[in-house]
Amino acid sequence: MTKVLTHTLGLPRMGPHRELKKALDNFWAGKIDQSELLKVGFEIRQLMWKSQAEAGCAFVNIGDFSFYDHVLDLSVTVGAIPERFRHLSGLTQYFAIARGEPQTNAAPSPMVKWFDTNYHYIVPELSESTEFQLNPEKLLAEIREARSLGYKPKVQLVGPVTYLYLARWYPLGNQSPLTLKLLPALLKVYKELLQKISQEGVEWVQIDENILIFDQLSNEWLDALSTTYKELAGLGPKKLLATYFENVAENLNILLDLPVEGLHLDWGRNRPLIDRVLEKLGSRVLSLGTLEGRNVWRDDLTALAKELEPIYKSLGDRLWIAPNSSMLHLPWSLEGETPPAVIDGKLAFMKEKLADLGKLSTLIPNPQPESPEIQELRAYLEKVKTERLAKVNAHKSEAYREPFAERFAAQQKHLGLPLFPTTTIGSFPQTAELRRQRKLFEDGKISQADYDEYLRQVIRDNIKIQEEVGIDVLVHGEPERNDMVSFFSDMLDGYWQSKNGWVQSYGSRCVRPPLIYGVIGYRGSLGKEWIFYAQSQTSRPMKGMLTGPVTMLKWSFPPAGEELANVAYDIAIELNKEVKALEEGGIKIIQIDEPAYREVLPLKQAQWPAALDWASRAFRLSCYGVKPETQIHSHMCYSDFASIVEGIKAMDADVVSIETSRAKGVLFQGIARDGYDKGLGPGVWDIHSPLIPQPENMKSVLNSAAQYLDPKLLWVNPDCGLKTRKWEEVIPSMKNLVSVAQEMRRNY
Ligand code: GLN
Ligand code: ZN
Repeated sequence: MTKVLTHTLGLPRMGPHRELKKALDNFWAGKIDQSELLKVGFEIRQLMWKSQAEAGCAFVNIGDFSFYDHVLDLSVTVGAIPERFRHLSGLTQYFAIARGEPQTNAAPSPMVKWFDTNYHYIVPELSESTEFQLNPEKLLAEIREARSLGYKPKVQLVGPVTYLYLARWYPLGNQSPLTLKLLPALLKVYKELLQKISQEGVEWVQIDENILIFDQLSNEWLDALSTTYKELAGLGPKKLLATYFENVAENLNILLDLPVEGLHLDWGRNRPLIDRVLEKLGSRVLSLGTLEGRNVWRDDLTALAKELEPIYKSLGDRLWIAPNSSMLHLPWSLEGETPPAVIDGKLAFMKEKLADLGKLSTLIPNPQPESPEIQELRAYLEKVKTERLAKVNAHKSEAYREPFAERFAAQQKHLGLPLFPTTTIGSFPQTAELRRQRKLFEDGKISQADYDEYLRQVIRDNIKIQEEVGIDVLVHGEPERNDMVSFFSDMLDGYWQSKNGWVQSYGSRCVRPPLIYGVIGYRGSLGKEWIFYAQSQTSRPMKGMLTGPVTMLKWSFPPAGEELANVAYDIAIELNKEVKALEEGGIKIIQIDEPAYREVLPLKQAQWPAALDWASRAFRLSCYGVKPETQIHSHMCYSDFASIVEGIKAMDADVVSIETSRAKGVLFQGIARDGYDKGLGPGVWDIHSPLIPQPENMKSVLNSAAQYLDPKLLWVNPDCGLKTRKWEEVIPSMKNLVSVAQEMRRNY
């Protein structure tokens, strides 16, 4: 049967049961040696290749497997090693760049989110001292492995211009066009690499130049793209230039002028551009990203086949199809999962997407009538969307509170807090004993009642410590939670949690995002009983704690075909029920954490204001209707405020706690200049470091804040939760924090 050529832009690399994660953790703990780690890597690569071959893909990819991160792999391949790691070599050097090296006190390279995903890449650190040097062994060895097993490899590489764009320029450590100074030197090494790859008999290399999706690229970057591909023209294997996650509308002309042998575009997002693409395609291959590579829903194969048929008729075997992005962000397979009946058979992880890709490849030349399952899925998604919309529309306008001045006065009276009130962000150390008890409970070895009693004991201890240290606003310490999203999503209708749906976040760290598959529903509690219990044990105010609507959305798999805004509003409406219940139960301060708030910013900058508008509305919906004297806090773990100050102001929280470890004065000046005029808790203690914060440093943060912002609005707190710290660090740090607040009170 005739079929369209299929391939992928990359697969998840952890293995079906997180084999790589386990091997890495064991290797770092000294429990297995390097040869065992390498063996696990080889086994996973074989599974990745086998999956592609069995699904009928024309190639297996090389370059998507990595022991830590594919951007770091490229840094090592081109020899971009930060100076402080140059004395090391091999895997020791590789992991030192990713994780730091204690012996020489060398900090790891920074880690940043990969486009708009929850995957983090290791930022290339470039400087005047960078000297590229080709180091192709890993890549070439993997090509040979694949060939010796009888596979036909396609190599995938981050493109040189995107690589520089993702890098930072030192000593300042910022993203800068200065990195482009290094382009000629990088291209020299890149050319050598392409030649080596071609000597291995590889026919195609997929080059990811994903910056082509950005809407505000400056001319220097656009010129760099043109120059680069002119220079690389005709060199090495045929080039498939890939973009994903967005359309290429703003840069289409540049893209179409690049002298490469093939283009990969996201079909769904570039539909309106396709006529222009076909017009200028010439003899090139066009690979269309047809299946959603990042969501977990079955794709509508019949509809896709119908749309693609005319393109196939005109291009013939120059049309390829693939998922629209790498499947790095998908779990391995649905095998062994038991999703709710209404969505059973309607989901697809990597393995199922691959199978569907195979089906689509025969459907395009041989159209078939629509399958009943797809009709059912479409009807299901439509029904959820309609129901959600009706609910959201009935509540959407409920997103305002009394003016801040009125709230502030009422809260002062209600709470009676001193100037510079002290508090912490929520979690306290998750000790070995806590983890042990949780495991015992999960394994059914202790009863619910025993486990609950243990947690109450932890809460009592946490309270005692805070009271003794003299903290003003207490937290219960979150011992009952291990994940700030799934703790809540498990208690809400409309969410489904897979058993094994792990996705790499960074290195060996994986997350298991729940899926939003229905309308969200509150079942009477989101854990408020723990907060009530904690409040009953102290006369000081106890903060109610929950994860906000934006974070609950951004750290989950979303439903298909819906506006994110409506899903966020839906979650907010249900969270609001818990917020009201907390207030009714006597809780005076409620903190709604939004560590993922910044992640609503879309890839296209032109869409930022609209995104911040819905994100802030969702937050306001979650605290709608509370009394003016009830104080609403929020928390974010970053200080990168410049692009979102408007969005933070629009949240209208009474107090926001943030990270402030870098650029303090500038930060506060900026916040004040942009008109932020509500409570602010600058994180005076960097909880990511095991060091005890010293009073002098904490004071300087506060003084710097007080210089620009009203001291009456300042809080004293760490910059994030303390769950990863030890009590030996936490207690003296809290003592320092309290003493600093007391001194500030005397001075203001
Ligand atoms: N309240 C949470 C905690 O303290 C906040 C976590 C976060 O910011 N990621 O752990
Ligand atoms: Zn945080």
